Amino acid sequence: MTCRKDIPKYVTKDRTLRIKILDSCGMTCTFCHNEGTPVAVDNIHNYSSNWNTQGKSGRTSIYAQTNGVSFLPTLIMPDGKFMLTLEKLQEKFNFDEIHLTGGEPTLHPCLPELVRKIKSFGLNVGMTSNGENGEKIIPAVAKEGLGKINFSVFGTTGEELMLVQNTTCKNPSWGEAKIKSLKKSMICAIENGIKVSVNIVILDSSHINRIRNLLSDFPSQISIRIMRSLEIRKEATESIRELFHEFGAELVTYSITAGVSDERFEYEFKDKRRIWYKKLRNVRLPETCKSCQFNNDTDCHEGFYGLRLYKDHKGNYQIGVCIQRMDLCKPVDEFLKSSLAKEIVRFQNNEFHRITEIYKRSDIKCPLNLKQK
Ligand code: SF4
Repeated sequence: MTCRKDIPKYVTKDRTLRIKILDSCGMTCTFCHNEGTPVAVDNIHNYSSNWNTQGKSGRTSIYAQTNGVSFLPTLIMPDGKFMLTLEKLQEKFNFDEIHLTGGEPTLHPCLPELVRKIKSFGLNVGMTSNGENGEKIIPAVAKEGLGKINFSVFGTTGEELMLVQNTTCKNPSWGEAKIKSLKKSMICAIENGIKVSVNIVILDSSHINRIRNLLSDFPSQISIRIMRSLEIRKEATESIRELFHEFGAELVTYSITAGVSDERFEYEFKDKRRIWYKKLRNVRLPETCKSCQFNNDTDCHEGFYGLRLYKDHKGNYQIGVCIQRMDLCKPVDEFLKSSLAKEIVRFQNNEFHRITEIYKRSDIKCPLNLKQK
């Protein structure tokens, strides 16, 4: 394997806060981590920490039984308490972006107002969405300044979508309706000036055909990121390699967010289309991860991915640092005074300088072992 020596490298510092604004979702994806929290609707009045992960909703939260989560997530409203919480966090971490997650953010009853309030801090706002409700809400959130949407996409047909849905009672026509809404949401976002990207999770080689269809089906304005499953990583990487090889992919740029596990490789396909391969690096917090039982190459799935804000069932805001270790969550005030907050600030600064220095000197290797020019 050879690699181009002149691949542009972009190193940025993580300045994003992910906020879980609600738990509701109309899909039942089998691989959903639900931001580390139990599915609220299946655990109403269950505060025992022995969470029901196979409830009537059909939804799942893949880590909830093992990650020590002690609370149920609730709706975050754009009220005074939320603004004060954001202000305190902003003072310490100087975020430049807020990324809204869920559940499905487009089901939030006050999404435009929430975006407006966050924008009043001078922050960029993005969100992850499955597209099921986008068309109804996107024009209003675009008006309030929502800048980008990452759509989570599994397939282009109802049948493909059903492959990763838990609920057996739902049929392909249900899937077809969801796909139709997703496509409408994407077009609506593009028409309203929102930057659109698509995250496609690949699990194994049986999913390659599905990805081929996706690639030919999406408008070229959409930035496509292919990610491997958090759980079945080896098989998923092999499948991505096979696919990129087929499309004659060539690595063209490399981006890394220092201080968190996010790493992206941009490839150009033979037909000049550009696709990102999103990979998670083995990033660990120097002190906190040292004694973690998952701290090895197979059990730690996401690495340190940045800060997440939640509102618990008692109405308190909590900060999380890992979806596999929700026992590390702390109430915001406690977190801000903690050694954990100091560790994160120090780590992110050091990582930015360290990585910048490394990439000034070294070349980038193609992670998929594809032949490069
Ligand atoms: S990132 Fe999370 S799972 Fe991985 S070692 Fe650190 S605390 Fe453990």
